[in-house]
Amino acid sequence: MIRRHIARKPLYSGIASREGRSAARSCSLDRESFSRPELSSALMTTAPHPGRPVGPDSSAQPVALLALDDTLTDRAAAFAAWAKEFAAAHSLPEQWLHDADAEHSGRRRDFFALAKTTYALPGTVEEHYTAFRRRTPQLVPHRPAVNAAIQALAAHGWQLAVVTNGDHDAQHAKLAAAGLADLLPTVVVSSDHGVRKPDPALFHAALARLGATTKEAWVIGDSLEADIAGGNRAGLRTLWLSHGRPHPGGPLPQHTADDIVEACAWLLAQER
Ligand SMILES: [Mg+2]
Repeated sequence: MIRRHIARKPLYSGIASREGRSAARSCSLDRESFSRPELSSALMTTAPHPGRPVGPDSSAQPVALLALDDTLTDRAAAFAAWAKEFAAAHSLPEQWLHDADAEHSGRRRDFFALAKTTYALPGTVEEHYTAFRRRTPQLVPHRPAVNAAIQALAAHGWQLAVVTNGDHDAQHAKLAAAGLADLLPTVVVSSDHGVRKPDPALFHAALARLGATTKEAWVIGDSLEADIAGGNRAGLRTLWLSHGRPHPGGPLPQHTADDIVEACAWLLAQER
């Protein structure tokens, strides 16, 4: 019944404060957040939830609908690991791959077309693209602090689901590589439903899978367009992961945290 205890904070409380921005900049996506006393305290010292109620009252449990890429997983780290492998396999500069990725972000076939012409790579653009899509999910790092944060939410009675845009096999492979597949068995992937975030239908599909309603649900994600705009449109509370970015304008979340570990600690702290 977390809703009773959540103090309604002003919209955008995390970003409006200079201190918050400074803290956000100081955090990196990969750091072990349990070394931060305020986060370990929030995650580790609250009394465990006595157990998940069953039956008609289960909709009153707090719900977290979690994005995947750059929320639960570190996509940049997976790309860096792939770039290292690919550069070694084809004898080309690893840094060139990072530079080309920045230039062709989101246009992966253009990226491989440029690599092929610049370095006379064997094989077709399509073959490289297919291999990339198969390999990078396997290179998503396992981050113990993230897994512990998710475990803490579950231990406190939160119902959890992953809501993600992408391909079924790739998204499940990422969860497995991150060691999150067993912790998060409810996964709603856009390719299975024929709709993508920010369409509210994908969030409502996740709530239906959990047997939950909108009133206890948070959407947590790094994308203002997909996660925050989508969650707002679905009538859910939203928590944006800034990863140190200032808010660029656009959809407003109810709260902002630097990363998923900080977000989980904040959600648990609201129960007190
Ligand atoms: Mg994302």
